[in-house]
Amino acid sequence: MDDAVIQTDGLTKQYGRILAVDGLSLHVPRGRIFGLLGPNGSGKTTLMSMLLGLVRPTAGSFTLFGKPPEKGELERQLHRIGAIIETPAFYPYLSGRNNLAYFQGISGRGHPGELDEVLDQVGLGGRGGDKFQTYSLGMKQRLGLAYSLLGDPELLVLDEPTNGMDPAGMAEVRELIRSLGGENRTVILSSHLLNEVEQVCDSVAILSHGRLIAQGEVAELLREQGQAQVRIRTTDDAKAREILTALAWVDSVSAANGYLVAGVAPDRSWEITAALSRNQVYVAEMTPVQMSLEQYFLDITEGESV
Ligand code: ATP
Repeated sequence: MDDAVIQTDGLTKQYGRILAVDGLSLHVPRGRIFGLLGPNGSGKTTLMSMLLGLVRPTAGSFTLFGKPPEKGELERQLHRIGAIIETPAFYPYLSGRNNLAYFQGISGRGHPGELDEVLDQVGLGGRGGDKFQTYSLGMKQRLGLAYSLLGDPELLVLDEPTNGMDPAGMAEVRELIRSLGGENRTVILSSHLLNEVEQVCDSVAILSHGRLIAQGEVAELLREQGQAQVRIRTTDDAKAREILTALAWVDSVSAANGYLVAGVAPDRSWEITAALSRNQVYVAEMTPVQMSLEQYFLDITEGESV
């Protein structure tokens, strides 16, 4: 497809007897925040390393920005990509800004005039002069993101950017990542945290043992599950259960934790209320239940030793 920033075809990496990435065919559309979700050891880092030319594939192929990474081309492609594969080794005694200047000088990414701009972009504008060692974990990771933004890359490749952070730092970095994605910038974010992908990403590929298990829009994967449910409490739950069970458009009715759970799309809530009140049963509480990606992930990896 022509809007793909990354397209892989049967991409494979074998380390001795370990198949780290196993025949992966992946489509990463432009302008999306794309999640690579999988437990530790599922092949996320290996996949990203292949895409960045750091690891040579055993088999299969891929394109970046529509072209294979052939000799000469790869260098041009890498200039359009910002990446954090491991936490960058910044110097503790240098300020954030001087660290950026130092690594910018070594790598030649972007230009010195950009430093203040990228610091502002990650919310470190006021703290760029402070020593790196005085930064919180969230700020350290944001400085890493500032480095990856040098040269205004079209694609950001972020490998587990919130790893090891406390909840406040995670929230900070997730919000920033969401703001960095957009029409002109694609973000590929790997994570073993299901709720992170759910919060940050538009599309997701789920990996297990180097294989692709599912791929698609986060919202669509959930919708496809067809698990729309509403949770209800009424003036007479036993009678309500009988009434709802008799309705052809209600898929299932069960009782859990003092509530009735009916398998029905939330937009039919008013019909439930109407059906019950016709029988003198009145709704005290009704809430739509959205299945989380976590449940979906657990369901589809069920039986695998993840
Ligand atoms: P994590 O989040 O723990 O890094 P991951 O999903 O990124 O997990 P990879 O790091 O890509 O997974 O590892 C996939 C598999 O390949 C693992 O079994 C790992 O042990 C193996 N592997 C990765 N790199 C090498 C290597 N250089 N030599 C041998 N085996 C490797």
